[in-house]
Amino acid sequence: MLGALLRVVETTLAKWPDQLMASVGNADTVTFDVFDTLISRRCANPVAVFDLVARKGLSQIDPVTYRRMRIDAERSVRKAASGEVTLEDITSRLVREHPELGVSAQQLMDFEIESEREMTVPYPEMHEVFESARRQYEVALISDMYLRRDVLLDLLERDGYDLRGVPLFVSSDEGVTKRTGALFGIALERLGNPSAREVIHFGDSLLSDCLGARKAGVRAALVRRCVHVA
Ligand SMILES: [Mg+2]
Repeated sequence: MLGALLRVVETTLAKWPDQLMASVGNADTVTFDVFDTLISRRCANPVAVFDLVARKGLSQIDPVTYRRMRIDAERSVRKAASGEVTLEDITSRLVREHPELGVSAQQLMDFEIESEREMTVPYPEMHEVFESARRQYEVALISDMYLRRDVLLDLLERDGYDLRGVPLFVSSDEGVTKRTGALFGIALERLGNPSAREVIHFGDSLLSDCLGARKAGVRAALVRRCVHVA
């Protein structure tokens, strides 16, 4: 029974890269989301990164308390912002509201980036899709993320992605997100205004990657264990 189930899972995974590549159709540009599409974290819940930050550099605060502080700080910063926020915005708020942390915003940011480095791993199947797309099409990365562009590039390269000549558009740099369609608009413009129909986007979020892309007229394929073209 278990053996049969495992064979089904293996077969599904084996077809996965082919199914995604088949969805490219007539497009000549393929764009990828980053987190939970090309790379992921070694934990079921991304907030485990915050626990690691507490264990790594905040010996006087227990990880559960720090996790709550970090989540609340991000929520407050997002509420006050009109566009995307940055990790610097979040850590600045944290140290302002919690001087008992006893660290600077920069130190807190460094701990979090270091923790992200320890936690991220590549998706082997998607690495295969990326490499295949890179050989055949124009490729670019589009990410809604509070981490800076250079940090994302470093995480991806550590996980084996060759990004030479690959543009990366990040919401925290541009101040707009994929979710509204605006980051896709910026990406299309910087990619030399290909017709939106000549582009397909791969990502794991229905809201940001699929619906956001459609707002900019771009086709999207949802990256899951099965593949659905929106
Ligand atoms: Mg994602």
